[in-house]
Amino acid sequence: MKILLLLGLIAIAAGCHTPAEKDNTKFVRFFSWGRPVSEEDAAKFAAAGVTDVLVSNRKQFDLAVKYGMRPYWKCFIPAGPYRQVMTPDEEKLYNYINGKDLDRKMPSAERQKIIHRRRTEKRSQYGGEAVVHPDPLTSIGGISCFISDTDFSLSRKKLDKILESAPDGTAGIFLDYIGYMNHFGCYCTGCRKKYAEYLKNQKLADTQENRNVFYRDRLVQYYNRVIEHIRQRRPDFKVAIHVYPDFEPEHLYGNRTKADFCGQTVAWYFQWPADKIRKYTRYVTGHAKDHHPDAEGIPFLGLSTDPKSSLGYKTPADVERELRDILSAGGRTLMICCGKTIIEPGYFEVFRKYCGK
Ligand SMILES: [Zn+2]
Repeated sequence: MKILLLLGLIAIAAGCHTPAEKDNTKFVRFFSWGRPVSEEDAAKFAAAGVTDVLVSNRKQFDLAVKYGMRPYWKCFIPAGPYRQVMTPDEEKLYNYINGKDLDRKMPSAERQKIIHRRRTEKRSQYGGEAVVHPDPLTSIGGISCFISDTDFSLSRKKLDKILESAPDGTAGIFLDYIGYMNHFGCYCTGCRKKYAEYLKNQKLADTQENRNVFYRDRLVQYYNRVIEHIRQRRPDFKVAIHVYPDFEPEHLYGNRTKADFCGQTVAWYFQWPADKIRKYTRYVTGHAKDHHPDAEGIPFLGLSTDPKSSLGYKTPADVERELRDILSAGGRTLMICCGKTIIEPGYFEVFRKYCGK
């Protein structure tokens, strides 16, 4: 017995097998942010192993059901009276990397080329963990200041519209963009006023640490308010989220939310070292129930298949290596964006191998 074990260890050390490959372990649940827009796509998503999928309309809903995938009816993003406010430096960079200064009449391809070049130059991580500061979000519209939606009236209205239109058989709803454009907080008048009140009530000093806790707790409160409202209206619905953009003071705070399926980034669009992927996977799955016993932590992997994009690039071999890292760290569920990449030639085969039936 001991000899067998020793031989096994030698084989692993020699790189003959990773444990995941050896015991043929696969993912058992697979969430896709890509929508099944055609019959062909839907069949491929299902063959790649997708079990839970975002849909935006009735046609996509029907395709998901036909191919045995659970449909999540639309994606809710925060509502607020105005866009979040960042520091002047962050605003300036935000305008630059989103091409706000460029001539509106410029051809789209030319515009995109400039934007990609600027984002690469400024090392933009597209809302993922920053590698330089500042690193504001790459999103033309930005994110609403949800903290200023004080009576929740704007968000509730938007959310109810989604919930009311959901067809029978809907598995749940996706949530996205609940976070800060600058990874730290929003500095609009309303938020600054609320923060000052918080310090006064809690008898706290204005320190970075206290600011971080304030903004983190506003995030969690907002998530849970949205989730509680969904549960009240549709107790049968599940809530699947991707914690995004990154909250720098506490990257993996998602387990504080009441989401049923809490997708947290373990592998970003820009390639992370294997030990970081494994460490994050262990935390996302192992600490999923720290605050809410029914929550499930889902490892999220970002994937761009365009070598010319400023959003990073992974080959099918890179993806395979990352999937094996997640499996070897105990991850058995997966969430992918951008969804369409799952069914592209070369990538499709990798997903089918590790996620397909
Ligand atoms: Zn604000």
